[in-house]
Amino acid sequence: MKTMSIVLPAYNEEQMIEKTAGTIARLMENEDISYELVFVNDGSKDQTWERIKEASKKNSNIKGICFSRNFGKEGAVFAGLANASGDCVAVMDCDLQHPPETLITMYRLWEQGYQVIEGVKASRGREGFLHKFFAKTFYKIISNATGVDMSRASDFKLLDRAAVDEFLKLPERNVFFRALSSWVGFKTTYVEFHVQEREAGESKWSMKSLFKYAINNITSFSAVPMQVVTFCGVIFFLFAIVLAVQSLYLYFSGRAVAGFTTVILLLLIIGSILMFSLGVIGYYLSKIYEEVKMRPRYIISEITETKNVN
Ligand code: UDP
Ligand code: MG
Repeated sequence: MKTMSIVLPAYNEEQMIEKTAGTIARLMENEDISYELVFVNDGSKDQTWERIKEASKKNSNIKGICFSRNFGKEGAVFAGLANASGDCVAVMDCDLQHPPETLITMYRLWEQGYQVIEGVKASRGREGFLHKFFAKTFYKIISNATGVDMSRASDFKLLDRAAVDEFLKLPERNVFFRALSSWVGFKTTYVEFHVQEREAGESKWSMKSLFKYAINNITSFSAVPMQVVTFCGVIFFLFAIVLAVQSLYLYFSGRAVAGFTTVILLLLIIGSILMFSLGVIGYYLSKIYEEVKMRPRYIISEITETKNVN
């Protein structure tokens, strides 16, 4: 029988673990699907890990992984995928904002032969005006960079074992799950779902963390920021040429202060070329720096014991 793993990153979700685990377990049992839940405790400061351990003691289909500190959701998703043993692996938030019933729809599509089933937000749920605005801008840039429409994309998806294995092979430190799952390709389909209200706890996204997330993902997926710098260099260079012509004209018509022309010319031309090359070098440097550090994506401090060690 085929098994579905469900990866659930959890950061300060003590109030949700038991409920989420129970809801999904009941659903799977009703549908007669063999399942495994992989909770990843992403360095929570509350009782999340205790709740996960309790849940896994009660139900042997529940597995828990504990990080040594908070590594961020992307790291937690990666760890979950790496430790999932199912024939297909779903990733969903553990605050039940991703409706569990959609898992069944996804599973049935997987049975029909689809290898990547992307959850698409039919509605964005309740979000503030600023949040909506920034999200829109961010997805515009990201969609341009990846060539995939990301505006309604989510982290809620189901991947076939083949896609999971390819995803795990990616060497980069900066994983952006939402976009990379479409990057790996495979036979893909989409399922719409409505984002539910959070039942307990609160969203971990402050304006600051969202901004960091956006900048991080934009730079790891595109060269646009550096291209902007380079573009500035080009504009300054054109400007330099115009000023150079003017300065030369003044010089030859004997109206310029001696030496001034040379200084202006050198300053402008060298300045613009420097800016241009810094842009290009900086781009490559930032890419190499991230990869060369080769730091682990996460550190696991504890893992629950499971009956079937794999
Ligand atoms: N999450 C995580 N690590 C973090 C932040 C969030 O594992 O550093 C988890 C969180 O527990 C939840 C999911 O990622 O299961 C989505 O987080 P949240 O509900 O705060 O985001 P929102 O739904 O508001 O976009
Ligand atoms: Mg949420």
